[in-house]
Amino acid sequence: MPTTAQAAQCMNAGLDVVVLGSGGPELTDKRASTGYLLRENGKARFIIDFGAGSSLNFERAKGEIKDLNALLFTHFHVDHSNDLPALVKASFFSDRNRDLPIYGPTGNHVIPTTPVFIERHFSEKGVYPYLSDFLSGEAAFSLKPMAVNADKSKPRLFQTKLNGFTLKAIPIEHGLMPSIGWRIEKDGCAVTFSGDTSNIGKTLDILAKDTDIFIAHNAVPESSTDKVAVKLHMKPSEIGRIARNTNSRSVVLSHFMRRTVNVKQDTAKAVRKQYQGKLAFAEDCDIFSLKSGLKVGSCKQ
Ligand SMILES: [Zn+2]
Repeated sequence: MPTTAQAAQCMNAGLDVVVLGSGGPELTDKRASTGYLLRENGKARFIIDFGAGSSLNFERAKGEIKDLNALLFTHFHVDHSNDLPALVKASFFSDRNRDLPIYGPTGNHVIPTTPVFIERHFSEKGVYPYLSDFLSGEAAFSLKPMAVNADKSKPRLFQTKLNGFTLKAIPIEHGLMPSIGWRIEKDGCAVTFSGDTSNIGKTLDILAKDTDIFIAHNAVPESSTDKVAVKLHMKPSEIGRIARNTNSRSVVLSHFMRRTVNVKQDTAKAVRKQYQGKLAFAEDCDIFSLKSGLKVGSCKQ
């Protein structure tokens, strides 16, 4: 497994992450479902998941579709993906003229692999055939779906370079759903997105090594005795353990659900037992600087 000999120092003050959605699948939490936007000097570069409501906050963050290098998906549960058709339709009205890569997990019997998932949305035989020009090459640009290994029995680190950024992904444990965690690096800066995971296979310990920001999903409380939920999601103590083990410089908790959003004190206590660095609870539109690891603004203002 690749290791970092010496922790790099983040040298680019222009990189930030906007929380497009800090909620999960519930429609009772007054939050958008999961989504994030990595920007450079205010320009949209990568979307990481795009659940319901993310498109509105993309707009609030002044994101422009033409500026995006790629869309990255951790998995295709509805709360992580279902504003995608809104983005594709909106792109018709943008100035984008270069192809748009869409990276997501390989499939299995519960969900198709990324290229098939995209085809089933946007091909002539898909649910939105009127958008098929975005796959056939007849629109101003094409969607370019690509599958990244999500096989937990072979947890290799995926790595590629795109327009000056390094993208890394690794399979993560999320029950039957093929899922990957993502990491984006540039100029010694790194942000890691946990995705939804119990981290039973401990693969986030590899992906998040020396990250500037570890965005960790807080979908189950420390006190949970729900056997199904704790196989799908990590408890706060596990988030703290990963943060300590990887030497994460800051932790941003997100993907709240009713069962976690009202027990923040207990959550912080459980994380703090393991990890004493910077810790924040995300709200929709929060902006975090990769260099400082701190909240520096909100796209609501
Ligand atoms: Zn989720």
